[in-house]
Amino acid sequence: MLSLNGVTKKFGGLTAVDNVSFDVKEGSICGLIGPNGSGKTTLFNLISGVYPLTCGSVKFNGVDITKLKSHAIANLGLVRTFQIVKPFNNISALENVVVGAFQKHTNRTDAEKVAVRSMEMLDLLKYKDIQPQHLPLAIKKKLEIARIISTEPKMILLDEVMGGLNPQETDEIVETIIKINDTGMTVLLIEHKMKCIMKLSEKVIVLNNGAMIANGEPEAVVNDKEVIRAYLGD
Ligand code: ADP
Repeated sequence: MLSLNGVTKKFGGLTAVDNVSFDVKEGSICGLIGPNGSGKTTLFNLISGVYPLTCGSVKFNGVDITKLKSHAIANLGLVRTFQIVKPFNNISALENVVVGAFQKHTNRTDAEKVAVRSMEMLDLLKYKDIQPQHLPLAIKKKLEIARIISTEPKMILLDEVMGGLNPQETDEIVETIIKINDTGMTVLLIEHKMKCIMKLSEKVIVLNNGAMIANGEPEAVVNDKEVIRAYLGD
């Protein structure tokens, strides 16, 4: 579904992402981990067309998306969340999700139907008439997921959707991600909570200083010497 080949990003003298290549299989959940500053968010920005690549290429569902802009990539069915959620605060939660649904639908009734279905999947319908500014962080994070789901994507990139949440809220998001994946959506997620990564991921990719140092099944990756060294330091 997603294929990276030698993806590299330089910011001046700093190589934030260094020659990264991996594939994400259709229908799978894949985890992207690494210490702070290892290049995870930059990699998401490269895949989703926020930044141009310095070199390398990205293919999505058979299409070369390397030079495409974010909206074109989203139209192909690859969408992402942002670490800092920024909903429109002056409209209701439902309207925020309808905005996502309008990406595919021009008809209001159809868009609203899709938005309601997305909110239902995340157990958010009870908040539909409330403006996001009045909702707690955990609900705002779910709302961000509902918004991207309502674009009816093939694949989603989740950037630390469990950050700042308590254990119960975290478990809820984990269950939600499983439910979304069960509908056939492919998932790539950045997450610091190892328990969640272990539970969700079929495959885990580890970055350190921009380079990929491991790529495999979660059990093997967490026991990998180089991965342990990257996290604990020498
Ligand atoms: P992570 O998400 O793993 O914490 P980032 O992708 O945010 O890591 O950052 C990787 C490196 O790239 C860091 O050294 C960071 O300072 C640098 N970086 C990220 N974005 C920019 C930018 N827009 N300009 C310059 N340097 C950046």
